[in-house]
Amino acid sequence: MDLFDKFSPIIDAHANLPADAEDPFNVSMDKILSPTEAIIKGRHTILAGTNNYLGLTFDERPLKAAHAALDAGGTGTTGSRVLNGTYAGHKALEQDLADFYGQQHAIVFSTGYQANLGVISTLAGPKNFILIDSDCHASIYDGCRLGGATIIRFRHNDAADLDKRLRRLGEQGSNILIVVEGIYSMLGDIAPLREIAAVKRKYGAYLMVDEAHSLGVMGKTGRGVAQEQGVEADVDFIVGTFSKSVGTIGGFCVSSHPKFEVLRLVMRPYMFTASLPPSVVASARASLAIITASNLREKLWANARALHQGMERLGFSLGASCSPVVAIKIAAIDDAVRFWSELLRAGVYVNLAVPPATPGRDSLLRCSLCAAHSPEQIEKILGVFQSVGRRLDLISETPRDDADAKTAVSRSTPDAAAATG
Ligand code: PMP
Repeated sequence: MDLFDKFSPIIDAHANLPADAEDPFNVSMDKILSPTEAIIKGRHTILAGTNNYLGLTFDERPLKAAHAALDAGGTGTTGSRVLNGTYAGHKALEQDLADFYGQQHAIVFSTGYQANLGVISTLAGPKNFILIDSDCHASIYDGCRLGGATIIRFRHNDAADLDKRLRRLGEQGSNILIVVEGIYSMLGDIAPLREIAAVKRKYGAYLMVDEAHSLGVMGKTGRGVAQEQGVEADVDFIVGTFSKSVGTIGGFCVSSHPKFEVLRLVMRPYMFTASLPPSVVASARASLAIITASNLREKLWANARALHQGMERLGFSLGASCSPVVAIKIAAIDDAVRFWSELLRAGVYVNLAVPPATPGRDSLLRCSLCAAHSPEQIEKILGVFQSVGRRLDLISETPRDDADAKTAVSRSTPDAAAATG
């Protein structure tokens, strides 16, 4: 017996990846050139799987702010805010977030993962029920488990199913927490928050929305799907991350609940870990200011439409209507691994996701767009997808005709049009 015996199926699956493919779990970026380019295995590569939605990682404003904070405040805080003290920057960032969302309170965490872990596990304990969308991120599941609440999953993006499950709970159903996401990370589909908020109101439950992939991406001022759909007043807790559109690392939760601040004294994933270093705090603040003021969202959505429309025209089966996550579904895992590998060899990096990490049975070649992608880069991505897809016999030689593609695009644009509005 060995402690590692339980991992044998994973070790075998990894060892049995197609011999002619690159290892998808071991990609090493030799050098990052820009938000959309890197050198990987000596090859110049277009990055189309970064979640760097606004391309702010190399923007001179967060860079400059981070450099100054590094010099002034040092490389790290070397401890937790509860024990080692809060820096002025942490407080300023929390105030920025509260102002940005128009909420009373904001708490910053060291990652988005820890934000979900901390808030969910602390709000909902063994005596509580949490209803979560079945496609929720691992950090939401882990937060539920850490708190020991009873987890009830409802069908993905299905408010009627949520309603049914709450009805079944009947009398037991007080102080229930509903957790959903804004844009779902794997397929890029968008939550029907209006319907979910109506169910929340009907049962007097609490609603938490993880806007990790929608901060800076949707809503008039970039606050996310709740803002886009006009339901912010119904959302009790918004969780987010700085690791995507904000271009650095960290997480947060904002709320106007009058007792929210007590969470700082009881959330273990907040209390027992080191706080964000000054340079990260400064770049997050600078990026948040850019999100509020810039037109980068329009560029992002124009790119999303171009890639989505192009993939549809090529005949790929896509995960959702148009959004900055474009997920191409591939039925067989080996095909997906070979496809992903050929893309990489041709200089296009996307994310490979295989079951059970994907919703449903398909594997996914997951692309995420960036405002900084150029039209030429999008053309190159589409061209490489076309040639590899044909070589592996996964799409036909004839692209869908323009009429088909136009119908498909007009079906998929309402979200996009609204988001840029
Ligand atoms: N929530 C969702 C929906 C996510 O997709 C992610 C990261 N992929 C997280 C939370 C965790 O964020 P972080 O990377 O900041 O830990």
